[in-house]
Amino acid sequence: MHSASRMHLTLERISSLFRTELRAAASVHGLKLVQLEALIFLSVANRYSDTAGAMGEYLGVTKGTASQTLLALERRGLIAKTPDSDDGRVQHCRLTPDGAAIVDSTHPVAFLTDMPADDLVEGEKVATELLRLLQRGNSFRAFGQCDGCAHFKRQGTRHRCGLTRERLSRRDAGRICREHQPNAQRLPVVP
Ligand code: SF4
Repeated sequence: MHSASRMHLTLERISSLFRTELRAAASVHGLKLVQLEALIFLSVANRYSDTAGAMGEYLGVTKGTASQTLLALERRGLIAKTPDSDDGRVQHCRLTPDGAAIVDSTHPVAFLTDMPADDLVEGEKVATELLRLLQRGNSFRAFGQCDGCAHFKRQGTRHRCGLTRERLSRRDAGRICREHQPNAQRLPVVP
């Protein structure tokens, strides 16, 4: 078996372990897997990425599924939507306290929190490098953390996005963004 086949099987196994654990966590709260994944995504997405479009892209689901998922979460009172100040067709989605409580109790998944600290540090390095290799080899969108982006500008204690030229709060700087541009000097950090 050559390397690509072995890597395929390894990734499939990791993905299956992860989804099994997450699906069980979702069902405890009466949620579908995609609904819990959407909540977790919204807990780390910055203001350019807390939309149905970005969420669908991140999770690899259609626009229709993304919209239906957000609608169901809104009906359950787990997220709240607010229209974009420049484009009223775009809705920003934020977790409500109930939504945030579900994320806190399910993320990260139990099999990670139970791992020894040294294994976690090592595993995180390996996983980040693997993700970087996959993104580089396939031109996948990075969705990395803002303060590791090539467009991220520090101005004293303030931050600014070089792409949109808008100010970034400390909260934005620590979140992930669909427009993230990997910085050759820094690895993208993805939750
Ligand atoms: S600096 Fe990069 S990651 Fe941060 S908001 Fe701008 S484009 Fe997104």
